[in-house]
Amino acid sequence: MFEDLTKGLNDPQREAVLHTEGPLMIIAGAGSGKTRVLTQRTAHLIKKGINPFSILLLTFTNKAAGEMRERIEKVVGHDARAIWMGTFHSVFAKILRFEAKSLGFTSDFSIYDTDDSKSLLKSIIKERGLDDKVYKPNVVFNRISGAKNRLVSADAYLADPIIQADDAAARLPEIGRLYKLYVDRCFKANAMDFDDLLFNTNILFRDFPDVLNKYQHKFKYVMVDEFQDTNVSQYLITRKLAAIHENICVVGDDAQSIYAFRGANIQNILNFEKDYPGLTTIRLEQNYRSTKTIVEAANSVIARNKRQLRKEVYTENESGQLIEVIKAASDVEEGRLVATSLFEEKLNNGLINSDFAVLYRTNSQSRAFEESLRKLNIKYRIVGGLSFYQRREIKDLLAYLRFTINQNDEEAFKRIINLPKRGIGDQTVAKIAVTAAEQNVTVWDVVANIQHYNAGRSASAIEGFSDLIKSFKLMIDKKDAYEVASHVAKASGILKELYEDKTVEGLSRYENVQELLNSIKQFVDNQDNEDKSLGAFLQTVSLLTNADESDEDGDNDRVTLMTIHQAKGLEYKVVYIVGLEEDLFPSQMMLQSSDDLEEERRLFYVAITRAEKRLYLTYAETRYQYGRLKPCEPSRFMDEIDGKYIHLSRAAARRMAEMQRSTERPTPAAFLRNVASKAAQNGGSQEKRTPPTRSATPQSTHVPSPDFRASDPRKLASGQRVEHQKFGYGTVKLISNDQNGAKAVIQFDNQGEKTLLLGFAKLRIV
Ligand code: ATP
Ligand code: MG
Repeated sequence: MFEDLTKGLNDPQREAVLHTEGPLMIIAGAGSGKTRVLTQRTAHLIKKGINPFSILLLTFTNKAAGEMRERIEKVVGHDARAIWMGTFHSVFAKILRFEAKSLGFTSDFSIYDTDDSKSLLKSIIKERGLDDKVYKPNVVFNRISGAKNRLVSADAYLADPIIQADDAAARLPEIGRLYKLYVDRCFKANAMDFDDLLFNTNILFRDFPDVLNKYQHKFKYVMVDEFQDTNVSQYLITRKLAAIHENICVVGDDAQSIYAFRGANIQNILNFEKDYPGLTTIRLEQNYRSTKTIVEAANSVIARNKRQLRKEVYTENESGQLIEVIKAASDVEEGRLVATSLFEEKLNNGLINSDFAVLYRTNSQSRAFEESLRKLNIKYRIVGGLSFYQRREIKDLLAYLRFTINQNDEEAFKRIINLPKRGIGDQTVAKIAVTAAEQNVTVWDVVANIQHYNAGRSASAIEGFSDLIKSFKLMIDKKDAYEVASHVAKASGILKELYEDKTVEGLSRYENVQELLNSIKQFVDNQDNEDKSLGAFLQTVSLLTNADESDEDGDNDRVTLMTIHQAKGLEYKVVYIVGLEEDLFPSQMMLQSSDDLEEERRLFYVAITRAEKRLYLTYAETRYQYGRLKPCEPSRFMDEIDGKYIHLSRAAARRMAEMQRSTERPTPAAFLRNVASKAAQNGGSQEKRTPPTRSATPQSTHVPSPDFRASDPRKLASGQRVEHQKFGYGTVKLISNDQNGAKAVIQFDNQGEKTLLLGFAKLRIV
């Protein structure tokens, strides 16, 4: 009966799909079918007769959940709609809405995005008379967020001598108090920020055993994708929810753990074995996504990390083409070379735009690629740039809608009270806030009863505003989200103001607001959405992650530009990993410790393993940073890929050959690593060192000689002793020299045999 569902799966995958009872952990490499197993397993459970309402499936993005739901629906039909699926944040926001009363919130609570949180902190910092150059809202926000993710409440924060000492040492002793005020203000505004969605769920389950019990019984099967990136708070919730049935299945890959900075913890994977002694662990080792070259290159990179679980990844796919390295003179040229290469790939291999992804370390790198793609008329989309929902006009209308639902929402209030301009100045707004605080009522209480307060000249404007909101409120229960929103857009004056602004920007803002209304209409028309109220729409919107947005013009055939963090779980036929330069990737900010370097390396591993057929690595020799042109050095990560998987682009090979012919020393910006060392040529000025014996150079403690230059391939011969900056001493076994540059097979004393591309390798003849 279940044969269909497991057809095409390999043995361990099948085992994972059929193993439904009891704790299960699937630890497996990239592209080995973890996500696919979760999808099949869920379909299998439903086919087996399990009520879809009792299945909880936690994913990395809502989009991933949507795609999985679609696939499950193909197998089990409409039943798939009832599964509880989504990100931790969206699933727990849903639970919190049901249970809001227990925590003193109403089910209409607002969800503050990061901008709202920072704006609120800014007000609080100002009210406390602190300097916001010292107490930067960003810094304060990050500290509070970190505390919440470690489940440290404001009171606990203030009572903890170590934390207090830490803040005092950072000369920010007020953070604890700011944290407390921030929490109070959010509570008063009937608002939760993103971190609260997890923090408060933990409180809910800790303090209300009946509520916990209800959900423990409800969710008979709990599954978590990308388990390696859950933080302590998320793990605790999951474990509690699964405590009765213990049918918990987590899938992950420790080699892809890339959110340590957000509190994710590899330790979760290790703890899981301790927490569930009866645990079944399944390893998936066959990669179905990528060519042999890509899989083996990725393996050669990640093998350098010391902190990792034992895991093999292999593939039966074809070897495919070598990984191509493209070297550019500048960041602008990098953009151009990538766009041209992409264009050629499309032509030569019959590919479409959506087969490609350009992955970078930081968002700000996207510009050069955008420009060059635009010049070639290649459509692209940027994941995680300034998103649609972060645009001013969109936030304005959403603030109106939020305030219509929740009149305690202070941040929404601040945004709309004088928008469009109705003559209510900042001072009046501040007075309203102070009055509300003094009388311990909300700003809305003051605004709605303004006739009882001495509001001077602004009184009638405020009254007009409060009448407007009251009229919107009357619609909520009677009308669907679209009817309310389009009325609000008109009656508030937002549409009119934008319509009358005849500039290009004004027009495009007007269109954006119309687009928002269209999306609300789509929401209302969507059969999957049972609740068509404005509140339900707002909840969906506030929980969208950057990766969830669809393309505005509905054309999905686009090249994807995004950071590597956002590429998790995705796959593309051709991938460009760009900006492979020291200090950029690995990022300078992340090189404080060897743990940090290992996290950067995992990030590189994630990037490589997104590619199915073809992988390009690119770097620039110069780049504008902070307004200055800086020379760049190729990333150490390129060195770390075994040279036998790499092919230099023709342009790069040609330039390298030119360099080698040239008798002059190149400038530092050019081919930093490929400089032929004169010293090595004449064996002259270098300090003579006796190569140590094998036993004297254990791999982990290799200290490179001070004067490190790349070798001149012409001088190298088999049998020669060399020293590599990382691998230590070794003997050259074979040299090959073709149009792509020279490669050497070297037997290292402690690192085994390696094929190195001499253009990159930092080698010294000893
Ligand atoms: P990541 O670690 O990147 O999240 P993953 O382990 O979740 O990867 P999937 O995305 O589930 O891997 O699968 C990778 C690709 O391999 C997908 O295109 C999937 O459809 C395909 N795949 C998985 N298992 C099989 C199989 N048994 N036969 C054929 N294709 C498979
Ligand atoms: Mg996956």
